[in-house]
Amino acid sequence: MSATNDKKLIVGNWKMNMNVHESSIFVHKLSKEIAVHRDVEVVVAPTFLALQPVSLQIERRQFKLASQNLYWRDHGAYTGEVSASQLRGLVDYAIIGHSERRHVFHEHDKDIRSKVQAAIRNGIKPILCVGETAHQRAAGETTDVIHDQLIGGLANVTSEEFSHITVAYEPVWAIGTGNNALPDDAKKAARSIRRQIEHLYGRKSAESLRILYGGSVKSDNAASYLATEGIDGLLVGGASLSVHDFSVIVAAAHDMEND
Ligand code: PEP
Repeated sequence: MSATNDKKLIVGNWKMNMNVHESSIFVHKLSKEIAVHRDVEVVVAPTFLALQPVSLQIERRQFKLASQNLYWRDHGAYTGEVSASQLRGLVDYAIIGHSERRHVFHEHDKDIRSKVQAAIRNGIKPILCVGETAHQRAAGETTDVIHDQLIGGLANVTSEEFSHITVAYEPVWAIGTGNNALPDDAKKAARSIRRQIEHLYGRKSAESLRILYGGSVKSDNAASYLATEGIDGLLVGGASLSVHDFSVIVAAAHDMEND
């Protein structure tokens, strides 16, 4: 694990799955399966609708909450959007720049950087997602893409604010495909992210940055990423919708710290 962060971070992104009632039942079941570990931080990201009821249900020592997105204006005539200021106090983290936001909803770095800024302004820690498409990977552009996304997303973040940032390396071709990246790919990407952050914010910031891997993480491959140099946690999509699989992944993070 990187120098000053001593907790693995496991984030479950439920995407557009489960209604409010189902989310409540799910988190109740999860709370029975997941033990509180001082060395593992567990975060779930339900639909916006379920954030409030789930927040009343959870014990914050056991789970923290993330939003899957947010809007960067604090309030106003933005029909259908949810702002960081509305999420303030409700969530600890916000997933920003997820590949589905970038590719399905055509979010650009300009939007993403405004969202990162809005999250920080409202006391919410951004989980900034970066990662290349299959096409970019085949063209040997992985490092450049990641660097551009980091520079684009972090453009307005000061050195003081940077301590609130987590970066998730999520190769687009690995998300929801079952075609997970090799741990060595994750290691190389993490190294390149830290190098870039060192360049932008200095060595201390680079060392203390938490970097997650995401992309078809399952209960049977989670440990291999958690054991990978430079990887401090996981962003889990599909497998976070199974109480059993997600609990196994969290337990793997704890075992890793205690090996
Ligand atoms: C994700 O949603 O960020 C993700 C990595 O999904 P999956 O684990 O299903 O690939």
